[in-house]
Amino acid sequence: MFDWTKDPHRRFNPLTREWVLVSPHRTLRPWQGQVEEEAVAVQPEYDANCYLCPGNARAGGVRNPAYSATFVFDNDFAALKPGTPVDRYDRDGLFLAESEPGLCRVVCFSPRHNLTMANMEPADLRKVVDTWVEQYLELGERPEINYVQIFENRGAMMGASNPHPHCQIWSSHALPNEVFKEQESLLGWREQRGTCLLCEYARLELAGGERVVEENAAFLTVVPFWAVWPFETMVIARRHISSIEQLTGEERDALADILKRTTARYDRLFNVSFPYSLGFHQRPTDGTPHDEHHLHLHFYPPLLRSATVRKFLVGYEMLATPQRDITAEWAAARLRAV
Ligand SMILES: [Zn+2]
Ligand SMILES: [Zn+2]
Ligand SMILES: [Zn+2]
Repeated sequence: MFDWTKDPHRRFNPLTREWVLVSPHRTLRPWQGQVEEEAVAVQPEYDANCYLCPGNARAGGVRNPAYSATFVFDNDFAALKPGTPVDRYDRDGLFLAESEPGLCRVVCFSPRHNLTMANMEPADLRKVVDTWVEQYLELGERPEINYVQIFENRGAMMGASNPHPHCQIWSSHALPNEVFKEQESLLGWREQRGTCLLCEYARLELAGGERVVEENAAFLTVVPFWAVWPFETMVIARRHISSIEQLTGEERDALADILKRTTARYDRLFNVSFPYSLGFHQRPTDGTPHDEHHLHLHFYPPLLRSATVRKFLVGYEMLATPQRDITAEWAAARLRAV
């Protein structure tokens, strides 16, 4: 008799239409992988060498203002630049290139160098949500911008160059790969079934409860059934809204609340400031309604079994299919227990 908690199987991600291999029996195998040094350095409230702290100079000589809440500036080393001329190159469909205009910004969450979302005051986190909405609208209004990607890289393990609480916003002319895949899936689902994939998914998860980690009046956090990263989660709006500016004032507070509670849970799991990549997925800003989109965020944390042992996506996962050992249900239970 097949046992979902022990036997190897694969699970389908309907958002990307890709599979993940689940091998729960392997949690028994001996671990001989990399053991990383635990970063336990206590950060000061202000760091004279931090290019994001108030009053400090950034590379290139620009000085930050003495800001007191959130602070937004154009990235000094932007991956995308506005005013990039539109052009396209196609040689036999094999050498294909397109120019990509865009604009990259940095959002400091707080003047305090040593805060994270987990230990910020809800009222201050609400100001971050308000800033995200303003930026989404402002960047999205630009004619050359069709998608506004808000994301946070947290922790040296994820390549974050600075512990100061901040996120990035890369806005682009083209629809990014992951958003394009999800959009195709959401459209396909709606065409076939007449419903929203994520409304249906959230309803099923709330009814079952075994993968739900946090919930409030406007959002739920789940370890998705198809999670790849050990403690991956999704934060999903309960109401069908397509982008962040459609949140009511109360829902903005609820978003701040669930982000604080979810990241605090992560920090308690291995007693460390938990590293992750976090990002919104929402509708493009290309001037059409795109109400097939359903506002959500993905947390992709790398840690596997302690503050120092991380998961790598290498070998079979790079060449074939992503694989995980612990089940999504077990990961959710662990997160609920801390
Ligand atoms: Zn700083
Ligand atoms: Zn929906
Ligand atoms: Zn998504």
